[in-house]
Amino acid sequence: MDERQDHRPVSPLGSTRFPVRGELPARLSRKPILISSAFRSAAVNKAVGGVPNSVHALGLAADFIGPASGTPLQVCTVLSRASSIPFDQLIYEGTWVHYAIPEKDNDSGKREVLTAHLGNGSTTYSRGLSSL
Ligand SMILES: [Zn+2]
Repeated sequence: MDERQDHRPVSPLGSTRFPVRGELPARLSRKPILISSAFRSAAVNKAVGGVPNSVHALGLAADFIGPASGTPLQVCTVLSRASSIPFDQLIYEGTWVHYAIPEKDNDSGKREVLTAHLGNGSTTYSRGLSSL
């Protein structure tokens, strides 16, 4: 099958390791999260303007909101302070949270926390969490 037409996820949410159970929901008081994007094929990633090396294409990231737990900034703040939650990147994207898990199991991850700044056709990132 042509890769451009293959939008099948490799597994539910792109990764069976995505912590839909356990510590992440516990930190959000087990309130629901709404995932808007997880695994993306290369074609879908390109179509939505994802960066070429997006970990979404590897099934290692999800974009979500947790409105019952707070604003995206509040959710990022809670997760960034929870040392028991593994992540490579946690990005406050303004209207959602980008959460990328480490590639390997039992890895606490790089724990990089960023704020995205949407510009005219480009996005820049600053370290830490800041109001937009
Ligand atoms: Zn994302």
